Amino acid sequence: MRISNVNGRLTTFVDGVTTDVAELSNGQFGPDAQSVYAQWDEFVAWGRSVGAHGGGAVDQSLLDSPAPQPRQVFGIGLNYVAHALEGPWGVPEVPAVFTKYPTCIVGARHEVRIPAPTTDWEVELVVVIGRDAHQVSAADAWSHVAGLTIGQDISERTLQRAGNVPQFGLGKSYPGFGPMGPWLVTPDEFENPDDLAISCRLNGELVQDSRTTDLVFSVSRLVEYLSAVVPLLPGDVIFTGTPSGVGAARKPPRFLQPGETLVSTIEGIGSLTTRLVAPR
Ligand code: ZN
Repeated sequence: MRISNVNGRLTTFVDGVTTDVAELSNGQFGPDAQSVYAQWDEFVAWGRSVGAHGGGAVDQSLLDSPAPQPRQVFGIGLNYVAHALEGPWGVPEVPAVFTKYPTCIVGARHEVRIPAPTTDWEVELVVVIGRDAHQVSAADAWSHVAGLTIGQDISERTLQRAGNVPQFGLGKSYPGFGPMGPWLVTPDEFENPDDLAISCRLNGELVQDSRTTDLVFSVSRLVEYLSAVVPLLPGDVIFTGTPSGVGAARKPPRFLQPGETLVSTIEGIGSLTTRLVAPR
């Protein structure tokens, strides 16, 4: 099943046709997309009963995030081998965890204002939690996942690295720095949700190109590691890390400019388009 958030209303595809969930379910689910994760098991059962499956066409200029108001948003740094080797730190021995503050989450229709000249791109596989997860084992982790979507962990590198003890959160949390979408795809729709091609194009040029099998810590291991400490709540979001090819690691470095466009693509999900615009 795929769910999207069209103009603030939860929708899914039934036989390829975009269908308003609140209307079809007589108000049992939706229209707020975030609220469905609190009823995830019932929603999935309802989806099966009405024949919700597969995809269809949606105008991306209408799309908000499929999880618009998560209570917690986790980011994972240096989680692809080749990307970890781009910087000075090397491959991490434990997940490098930070937060993106939830107000940065937007959907496909949102333009992202560039706040400073060293703003960078990071295509990422994004996990949305569907069932409370506290002290969950890796073996059981996927049963707590509602689905996968595409995200951009937009990062202002100067602020991200500022100070003697750099903290990633603020530099990754300007308004619009967490585009997600175009829709959420449930794990059963993938042949293998742990092996997906992931890429990013900047103005048509391929700048990142990898597979999620290159993740240092897989989705299952991240759910286990995070949930050992923090209860993961329905609708929470995990940005799982970016492959090599970010702008800051290029020689010379390259950063996002107003007027540029990112197209982020993940196999089995689709593409998320993000337009960059000048500061107000
Ligand atoms: Zn990232």
